[in-house]
Amino acid sequence: MHFEDSPQEAAFRAEVRAWFEANAERTTEASQSLSVMEAFDDTPEGLARAKEWQRKLSEARWSAITWPAEYGGRGAGPLESIVLGEELGRYDVPVQIFTIGLGMIGPTLIAHGTPEQKQRYLPAMLRGDEIWCQLWSEPDAGSDLASLKTRADRDGDHFVLNGQKVWTSGAHYCDFGLGVFRTDPNEPKHAGISALVVAMDTPGITIRPLRQLNGASHFNEVFFDDARVPAENLVGDINDGWRVARTTMMNERLSAGAGVSLGEAMAPMLALARRATSNGSAATADPRIRQRLAHAYTSSKLFDLTTARVRTAIANNAIPGPEVSVLKLFAALAGTEMAEVGIDLLGPAGMLAGDDGVEAGRWVEGLLASFAMHIGGGTDEIQRNIIGETVLGLPREPRV
Ligand SMILES: Cc1cc2nc3c(=O)[nH]c(=O)nc-3n(C[C@H](O)[C@H](O)[C@H](O)COP(=O)(O)OP(=O)(O)OC[C@H]3O[C@@H](n4cnc5c(N)ncnc54)[C@H](O)[C@@H]3O)c2cc1C
Repeated sequence: MHFEDSPQEAAFRAEVRAWFEANAERTTEASQSLSVMEAFDDTPEGLARAKEWQRKLSEARWSAITWPAEYGGRGAGPLESIVLGEELGRYDVPVQIFTIGLGMIGPTLIAHGTPEQKQRYLPAMLRGDEIWCQLWSEPDAGSDLASLKTRADRDGDHFVLNGQKVWTSGAHYCDFGLGVFRTDPNEPKHAGISALVVAMDTPGITIRPLRQLNGASHFNEVFFDDARVPAENLVGDINDGWRVARTTMMNERLSAGAGVSLGEAMAPMLALARRATSNGSAATADPRIRQRLAHAYTSSKLFDLTTARVRTAIANNAIPGPEVSVLKLFAALAGTEMAEVGIDLLGPAGMLAGDDGVEAGRWVEGLLASFAMHIGGGTDEIQRNIIGETVLGLPREPRV
């Protein structure tokens, strides 16, 4: 098992840490996120701050390090990417709005884009000047994405888009989206799909933010009414969009567990446990609370050990498979468990939300945000199907 850094990884970690110590603020107990899906600042000021940080990061070449050097990356391997992710988690930096572009869409354009597309989109994506979203899910196509119906019909030098996407994270502030559209309804469902770059300000596109359980609006419905997209925006071949989409999915899977340590995320819960009281005594003296803390701690350790399995697979030049599904499932379950323990530790104050109480609001926010992790990037049930089929050898689901 790959538990410790190799000498090269240790040297790389030291280099990363030195740069971040000099250029970023450390995460404190108060600023440590309780969930990767937690609300973040997407006001115009927040976006400007995030863009400024992204420019600085990319100029120092600490962004998208796995991209080839010719596109501004370092041609680094996935293990270095994990080390960078682990280090990044220790600092309070606004990186969320760029993750879809840099982690998923950039690598897809590098693999399938034309030289002109790479030149036009990658540098601005890397600098943070242009932000990207992923136009995939539809009201009747989520887990079964290949059922998508939004049409892209060829008309001269353009594709004409009609239909609806949903749950599009960041569409309301993004400049571009990479979308998958039905270009041939007569082909089998995986075969009649094409991938297109869409400028989000194209006439005929309406973006309607959705209000979430926690009051934030991070994702949107996106409607297409005769929106005309230049044919040169086709990524990959016509009707070969599923292959393009699979590249995006693979990069999403690889980035899903990269560098997340639940051990670090436990810190606010343990600090709260040390402060909290239960029936007039220290909460940590209550055996029921001790048991819950021990369970949450064990979950976080199991998560970190599964991360080590992914690192081991990568170190052995293998592409991690079902371990990533275990990791995703565990991260979602542990995120919800930690927030629930935090809320219970607060006692009656655990019912407060938002501005009602700064500390209490934070835990309720963490719990509400944790539900998203059970759905986005493949639901818990889909991860269980993958584990059942590929690890336990259960019969495969019929493919329709
Ligand atoms: C925070 C967040 C951000 C997102 N961002 C984006 C984005 O930027 N772009 C984008 O395109 N989409 C985005 N999504 C959408 C996401 O990809 C879908 O929600 C997800 O794929 C599930 O699809 P669905 O919501 O249509 O649910 P469905 O697929 O309709 O599933 C409904 C229920 O049925 C279960 N189910 C479905 N199929 C099976 C099966 N074969 N076996 C067992 N159970 C099954 C599911 O687990 C779920 O419980 C985001 C979602 C979230 C939560």
